[in-house]
Amino acid sequence: MSTLEIRDLHVSVETKEGPKPILRGVDLTIASGETHAIMGPNGSGKSTLAYSLAGHPKYQITSGTVTLDGEDLLSLSVDERARAGMFLAMQYPVEVPGVSVANFLRTAKTAIDGEAPPVRSWVKEVRGAMDALRMDPTFAERSVNEGFSGGEKKRHEILQMELLKPKFAILDETDSGLDVDALRVVSEGVNRVRSGGEVGVLLITHYTRILRYITPDFVHVFVDGRVAEEGGPELAERLENEGYDRFLPTGSITA
Ligand code: ADP
Ligand code: MG
Ligand code: MG
Repeated sequence: MSTLEIRDLHVSVETKEGPKPILRGVDLTIASGETHAIMGPNGSGKSTLAYSLAGHPKYQITSGTVTLDGEDLLSLSVDERARAGMFLAMQYPVEVPGVSVANFLRTAKTAIDGEAPPVRSWVKEVRGAMDALRMDPTFAERSVNEGFSGGEKKRHEILQMELLKPKFAILDETDSGLDVDALRVVSEGVNRVRSGGEVGVLLITHYTRILRYITPDFVHVFVDGRVAEEGGPELAERLENEGYDRFLPTGSITA
């Protein structure tokens, strides 16, 4: 049983005009086996939260804490965070030309476990996971994210999550750009990982659509860099019907 605890987190982003405060006191606790959805309008700071947890250098933590089972996560390097059990799927994943998906996965697994996985069982596991995500076997030989379609990027993320078996997975807009079939396949993947009851999932999304396939235990509405309201799955339904308008100043535009 693990706990990821975010306490009063304030984050500024580096801009040409200097640091710009984005997160204004985020409080959130996720335990193993729980799925939390963060929903909110565009520009509310959802991706900033994901990048901050990932250790992106552009995002400066100005105050607050993030701990994984009591250990300070923010003092760890990106690699150390992964080894500690954090998995972060970014809204805009980077391309790694010249590195195949197969090599990337094996290298990541080796780095996280501290030893190379046994070849036979690993190959079988990768094939099985790719199969379940309806990915063609030739996909393993392609360069990471190079020329991937939106759907391929998301499947690749879920493939990583299934194989790397993190303690906590942060999925930023995993639903964006997916058609209904891809959304179903990707959601099934997340649900397979969830069904083990061991991973904690933070599902960041603008739209309620993915929550029809992945039922969260908790929903947090994110507005202007902090959690404005919390509830259960019924809150997502309410947002689907009402949108974010009631959380925003009158006259503002919701995108
Ligand atoms: P969301 O993911 O909820 O749409 P973001 O975290 O991407 O929100 O952005 C929150 C706010 O921070 C926005 O106003 C955005 O313009 C600003 N922001 C985020 N990253 C940067 C950056 N690298 N440079 C300048 N502004 C940024
Ligand atoms: Mg956005
Ligand atoms: Mg975003």
